[in-house]
Amino acid sequence: MPTEISKLVLGTHNRKKRLELECLLAPMGIRLCSLADYPHALTVEETGETFIENARLKACQQAIHLQEWTIGEDSGLCVPLLGGQPGVYSARYAGPQATDEDNNAKLLSALQNASDERRNAYYISTIALSDPHGAIHLEAEGRCWGRILTAGRGTSGFGYDPLFEIPEYHQTFAELGLAVKAVLSHRARALEKFLRGLRDLLAK
Ligand code: IMP
Repeated sequence: MPTEISKLVLGTHNRKKRLELECLLAPMGIRLCSLADYPHALTVEETGETFIENARLKACQQAIHLQEWTIGEDSGLCVPLLGGQPGVYSARYAGPQATDEDNNAKLLSALQNASDERRNAYYISTIALSDPHGAIHLEAEGRCWGRILTAGRGTSGFGYDPLFEIPEYHQTFAELGLAVKAVLSHRARALEKFLRGLRDLLAK
C-alpha cells in the first residue's frame, strides 16, 4: 500500500456506518468517502453465505469499478435460538424491501415465546480492504453480545439497535447513543483490529 494514501472508499450507502468509521480514520490522516460520493458506483449483490464473503465482494467489486482502495463491511445480528438468524439476511429479514421497523417486528414475533435467558444475541461486523485491482490486503471481525428485548427502547442508532440491550448497562444501543457504540460495538471492535492492520500496511 502506498504510504501517501489519504483516502479510502467505504463500499456502502449507509450514512450511519460511515459516521461510525469516519471519526476513527480521521486521526490517521485518512479521509473516508462513501458510495454517496460516487453516483456511478456499483450495486454489489450480497450473494455470499457468510459475512466475510459479502465483505470481500463489496470491497473487491467496488474497488475494481471505482479504481480506488475500498473497504467492504458486512454486518448483522445473529440469534442462537433462531439458528443464527437473521444472520447475513439481517437487512432483508422481513423481505427485500423491508424497513428497520419491519425487521424488528419480525424478530419480536420470532422470539415472542422465548424466555429471558434465551434471548441472547450478538452483532457481528466483518471488514475487508481491497486495492484497485481487487486484491484483498486486510480483513477483520468484531462481535458484540447483548440481549433482545420484548419491545424497542431509544431513538439513536439504526437497524435492530432499539431491541439490542447491552446487559452491563441495562440500556439498548439506541438509548446509549453513538459515543458508547463507538467503543463497544461489533463495528468498533472490528475497526480496532482493522486500524491496527492498516497502520502496519501504511508503515511498509
Ligand atoms: P449490511 O448493510 O448488508 O451489512 O446489513 C447490515 C444489517 O444488519 C443492517 O441493515 C441492520 O439490520 C443490521 N445491523 C448491522 N449493524 C448494525 C448495528 O450496528 N445496529 C443495528 N443493526 C445493525
